[in-house]
Amino acid sequence: MSYVDRVTHDAALYPTDRLGRAQKAAAEAGLDALLVSPGADLRYLTGYAAPPLERLTCLVLPVGADPFLVVPGLERPAALASPAGALDLDIVGWAETEDPYALIAGRLPAGAARVGLDNHMWAEKVLAFRAALPAAEQSLAGDVLRELRMRKSAAEVEALRRAGAAIDRVHARVGDWLRAGRTEREVGADIADAIIAEGHVRVDFVIVGSGPNAASPHHELSDRVIESGDVVVVDIGGTTADGYCSDETRTYCVGEPPAEFGRYYEVLERAQAAQLAAVRPGITCEALDAVGRDIITEAGYGEYFIHRTGHGIGLESHEEPYIVAGNTLPLEPGMAFSIEPGIYLPGAHGARIEDIVVCGENAGDAMNLRPHGLVRL
Ligand code: ZN
Ligand code: ZN
Repeated sequence: MSYVDRVTHDAALYPTDRLGRAQKAAAEAGLDALLVSPGADLRYLTGYAAPPLERLTCLVLPVGADPFLVVPGLERPAALASPAGALDLDIVGWAETEDPYALIAGRLPAGAARVGLDNHMWAEKVLAFRAALPAAEQSLAGDVLRELRMRKSAAEVEALRRAGAAIDRVHARVGDWLRAGRTEREVGADIADAIIAEGHVRVDFVIVGSGPNAASPHHELSDRVIESGDVVVVDIGGTTADGYCSDETRTYCVGEPPAEFGRYYEVLERAQAAQLAAVRPGITCEALDAVGRDIITEAGYGEYFIHRTGHGIGLESHEEPYIVAGNTLPLEPGMAFSIEPGIYLPGAHGARIEDIVVCGENAGDAMNLRPHGLVRL
């Protein structure tokens, strides 16, 4: 991809109206300003993938005044070169001996009584802001920003589709590495290399759960040697250059699977397919969770489906909306999330099937296109 392509591409991914939309949402929530340090919120709002440093970088979005971005002087050229440099945004560098918190307090409109801090701001920065703005009540900016970030633009959906295609290409190659006699860690190292080679800039996680480890949903890698007859859950994801994440699980088997496995894998496939088919605007997150859980429960495996159905995904691999009992949020077009039911028999084996899907105008739009059946190696 040429430099020109990248610039065009970034312009579509990071439209210039987000600062204004965030200020409006902050005003409606009764906040006087949002303070956003490096992370997914900052990237979403400005396109700037700022490094998380001990030196303060902070986007300030005051209600009723112009936004500004405070950065260490050393980082100002990078900030200007990022998509943030093309925004109508004053980028203020601070010198090594200056106090950036006092600088921000001095530029905020007088009487700011409620400020929203991004949910992942480091505690040392939260406390420094508390000291610099003693009269301001602190709350979570995420309550405001999640409403914007949850509904993906067409450009964001295409970014998720590119990430989904990249991780599909890695799953397509798992058979090259997964075999009896190798350890989970050896297989995982090959997968991690492929995650980068196939179009990501960062490996977010590599789970290779073999044999009894397949029954542990968040098992990562161990030195267990894979044996013939093992079921292996492979759940992998990374972040692409434009910041969007992939996450996909397929279940493999080396040789012949255990007899009981075939019985419940068929149930799991049916449950996941029913959930994919049920995605549409208006269905609540908890109802979508129940679509798969009911099928698994009726087949007698309900107690072995021990986690929620899924999580939102975008600039973070886990974000809103969560597809879980108790979440009455109705889906809307543009919401992106995983559908990943699993069945886990403790100490024996387990299985999970996971795809990323975006809610469209009438149905789900799948970002992952690999077949769902058990992959026999
Ligand atoms: Zn996953
Ligand atoms: Zn997931």
